[in-house]
Amino acid sequence: MRDDNCIFCKILNGDIPSRKVFEDDDFCVIMDVDPATKGHCLILPKEHYANLLAMPDELAARVLPLAKKVAAHLQETLGCDGINLVQNNGEVAGQTVHHFHMHVIPRYQGGNASDVTWSHSSFTDEEFDAILETIRL
Ligand code: 5GP
Ligand code: ZN
Repeated sequence: MRDDNCIFCKILNGDIPSRKVFEDDDFCVIMDVDPATKGHCLILPKEHYANLLAMPDELAARVLPLAKKVAAHLQETLGCDGINLVQNNGEVAGQTVHHFHMHVIPRYQGGNASDVTWSHSSFTDEEFDAILETIRL
């Protein structure tokens, strides 16, 4: 299941070139074309799913072990000092390519990449309690 308008599907079809780090039956790991740091990789499922919520649980469950494998390999081969895993869902959350992907971003002591960060919101105790009532699973 591919989407003709999706840039990652085009990469997976071989219509657009990419630098492939790893692949198995269900996933491809490629280098990000506009990397935050040296070795920034993207984990892509071979099937098109817009984001995490659209993915079957069995496939989603394989992403973190693969991210761990890639992270350990980047640490071993590039000697990075830390790794960020970043996974954006939806335009408002910063997702620009609407084919699920997880960023694996090596971080280096003294490197100039900015932290993964956000500004903070404040809520009263009552507001926190009301939110908890709404979201408790
Ligand atoms: P998002 O903001 O959706 O989480 O991240 C999309 C990522 O895809 C960005 O880091 C961007 O650099 C990367 N990207 C976009 N187009 C291409 C492409 O054609 N090839 C590769 N390798 N990466 C891409
Ligand atoms: Zn796609």
